[in-house]
Amino acid sequence: MRSLTVLGATGSVGASTLDLVRREREQWRIVALTANCQAAELAALAREFSAEIAVVADESCLPDLRAALAGSGIETAGGTAALIAAAARPADLTLAAIVGCAGLAPTMAAIERGATVALANKEALVSAGAVMLAAVARHRTTLLPVDSEHNAIFQCLAGNDLAQVRSITLTASGGPFRDWSPAQLTKATPAQAVKHPNWNMGAKISVDSATMFNKGLELIEAHYLFPVGLERLRIVVHPQSVVHSMVEYRDGSTLAQLGPSDMRVPIASCLAWPGRMETPCAPLDLAKLGELTFRAADEERFPATALCRAAAEAGGAAPAVLNAANEIAVAAFLSGQIAFTRIAVMVAQVMSRYSPSAPASLDDVIALDHAARVQTRELLELA
Ligand code: NAD
Ligand code: MG
Repeated sequence: MRSLTVLGATGSVGASTLDLVRREREQWRIVALTANCQAAELAALAREFSAEIAVVADESCLPDLRAALAGSGIETAGGTAALIAAAARPADLTLAAIVGCAGLAPTMAAIERGATVALANKEALVSAGAVMLAAVARHRTTLLPVDSEHNAIFQCLAGNDLAQVRSITLTASGGPFRDWSPAQLTKATPAQAVKHPNWNMGAKISVDSATMFNKGLELIEAHYLFPVGLERLRIVVHPQSVVHSMVEYRDGSTLAQLGPSDMRVPIASCLAWPGRMETPCAPLDLAKLGELTFRAADEERFPATALCRAAAEAGGAAPAVLNAANEIAVAAFLSGQIAFTRIAVMVAQVMSRYSPSAPASLDDVIALDHAARVQTRELLELA
């Protein structure tokens, strides 16, 4: 039996994770389950999985959580400090699936315990970069990538030396607007943006897929996880989302990982790593799929990937500033405050006006993230 904590248990990745755990219930002991609020949902999961503790990050939701778990014997807690403390409880595996930089401090607490952390929360790695990787090395933590592309690359790299790699190609579905004209893009609505053609995901990452910031953030994520050099990292649009990414070796051999577009596949690979486990996903039927297509990304219509590459090249504080600006701009788009195409414009503006020094600690990253959010909100108000 292994112990598991799920940070962001009520989200899309959290639900996929718990769906797999439910099928092998006897093999897992659940330590902490967390959510931002969603007290009723979180309480139901905590009861079903007999969690040790259930935590809401938003303290105002704690009374509801307490009421929902009364008499269950399950501990409850609320607030940022409680979330971090829960993440620091011993567990063999932590699934880091909070959305946004809000997940950084709890993910770092899990990393500092030195067990295994399966990372879905890409914004945390993009913001903290070197600070997070230094903690991983210092605490001898095993960091497993959940993001389907990085999980694919991790599998394609297995047993090989990065020095043998000629290039790594991240595949991108291109999102719901991949064939839209610039004029159509300016009118894209939040409802259209969150309707991803291939994947069923949380609202923030769905908008990121539509702008291509998701792929850009993933480029930065890959740059940290697989340090082969930015010039060796590529992006190709692959609308079917069957090839999840590939690694080309210097002898001209390219290894790719294929699978259904269902996050339970990469999550299962992390839960069972270094072994394998069953998933309920339908096997790939390539004859039925017929063809797999690929095309270059269009950085004129979707400037996000170029902005992210520039942030990765600049290094230092740039990726954290970019991520914070994007989080605020996505929220402004989702609330109807700005047009879809302004997301990338705002990120570019914040990045050009604001370049703080490189963060050296977790506190630095959090302060930097906060300051970049303030800068972005100021720009929003000016508009
Ligand atoms: P989601 O919105 O469905 O769920 C997010 C979870 O985080 C929820 O449990 C929510 O309660 C919690 N949360 C939100 N704000 C919080 C805060 N301020 N403090 C603490 N907890 C908070 O998101 P998701 O789609 O599951 O994505 C989670 C992460 O995984 C993201 O970083 C995303 O980029 C990454 N990811 C998701 C997918 C996917 O298919 N959904 C694929 C790859 C990577
Ligand atoms: Mg991905």
